[in-house]
Amino acid sequence: MKRIAIRITKAITLLVIAMSICLTLVSCGGSASTPTATPISESSTSPEYEVSSQLVTPTPLMDKEIIEVQTAEFEVTTLTANPDTLTVGETTDISVDITNISEIEGTYTATLTIDNDQLESKDIVVGAGDTQQVSFTYSPVSAGTYNLELGELTTSLNALEPTLSGPAEVTITRNQTTTDFPDTIGFTLEGTSVLSVTKISLEYGTSKRSLVSEVSRVEPDYAIGNKIKASWIWQMKETGSLPPGTSIWWRWRITDVNDRLYTTPRQTMLFEDTRFNWKVESREDMDLYYHDRDSSFGQELTDGIEEKLTRIELDVDIPEDRKIQIFVYADTDEFQSAVLFLQEWTGGVAFTQYNIIVYGIRPDQLDWGKRTLAHEITHILVEEATFGPFGDLPTWLNEGLAEYAEGEMSEHYKDVLATAIINDELISVTSLCSGFPANPDKATLAYTQSSSLVTYLVETYGWEKMRGLLEIFKDGSTYDNALEEVYSFNIKGLEDEWKAYIGAI
Ligand SMILES: [Zn+2]
Repeated sequence: MKRIAIRITKAITLLVIAMSICLTLVSCGGSASTPTATPISESSTSPEYEVSSQLVTPTPLMDKEIIEVQTAEFEVTTLTANPDTLTVGETTDISVDITNISEIEGTYTATLTIDNDQLESKDIVVGAGDTQQVSFTYSPVSAGTYNLELGELTTSLNALEPTLSGPAEVTITRNQTTTDFPDTIGFTLEGTSVLSVTKISLEYGTSKRSLVSEVSRVEPDYAIGNKIKASWIWQMKETGSLPPGTSIWWRWRITDVNDRLYTTPRQTMLFEDTRFNWKVESREDMDLYYHDRDSSFGQELTDGIEEKLTRIELDVDIPEDRKIQIFVYADTDEFQSAVLFLQEWTGGVAFTQYNIIVYGIRPDQLDWGKRTLAHEITHILVEEATFGPFGDLPTWLNEGLAEYAEGEMSEHYKDVLATAIINDELISVTSLCSGFPANPDKATLAYTQSSSLVTYLVETYGWEKMRGLLEIFKDGSTYDNALEEVYSFNIKGLEDEWKAYIGAI
């Protein structure tokens, strides 16, 4: 109002000045040199001058100044985003203070711009001298740094990739195994995942005795997406035979697109020969399974086994969780159908790392069956006595101890040995340290010699030294050094002494 008043004064002053000029022009008369005056009539005796209209009309400047309208003025401060760092999917509150710095109430339009895109406008009425806050909310849809702008102010907002923790959200509808004994075990997994699955793997292992935890891992074919569908078949022909009764554990690992892991609970199954209905004869250290025979069969087969095993004085205890399992098939052919990769003359096999024995007995082979049982159990006892990172025994020692458990050397073995001595066909003890011949006759001679060698050692030097020998092998030793340490002779020395014992030299 004050400014307008001043301008009105100025306008009046201008008008007064203009009128003074006019009056001057009217009073001076006679002069034709005044450019702003035009004579009405040169013939006029009393020349009169008319004031130019532009000189008498009030300047329009005065009207404009009078109708000017005042608007409110605002000051914009404190643009903030809270929080200014967040995860994609979260929301931040953006606020700004608007102060009316004029003397009239006014409306301010607050327009928030994010990365040059107008997000939202809000009209706010602010009284003269007052301050009001305007708020917005914003949820970034992707990670990055955003530039927020309102009025002359700017600030930034950081959006981070989501780092979801915890297990993948997975629903399992099928998790099972199928057995085709003795060839395959199939593993199948089905279900759904909230987030897309990027990887599925299967971990599994067996009840095999091991110094370190043995975990096998495979990555079967699977589709990437929300649907879980994976399967894998364990081919025993590729990895080696597993005996019936082996306990197998497995678990699936599922990774989703956020790198979150879901692991199915560890489950176990038995690799069973379901072709037969098994009966069981339970003893303190063993469970003997057989099929299609009277219940008396299991009892007859195991009767006297403890007595046989007392011939082997190894002082080994079988822990309860490693109780020996024995699977007795109806005959050798049936037994061979249950175990892969066997020499064709094999009648029984001890899976010493599993404490499982598998063999076949015809009804007329009960005596052989009892001897073989003692033989195979001894292999397990020797394994228990020597298990360790080394524990490498010469074959003649391992087989000789097993043969010794069977009882007195059979007449057949005595004949085989006598014939070999006469024909000078004895196999060297060094050769008997490694695997036995595939040829059945040579194999029989190898078993016979092994039996004789162990008989010589235990009957000449006793069981304490034999236990000492096994202890040295457990801790790791060459064959020569172990014998030297216990008996003061090496392999060659043993061969010489033994040959003298059996009358071969
Ligand atoms: Zn054997």
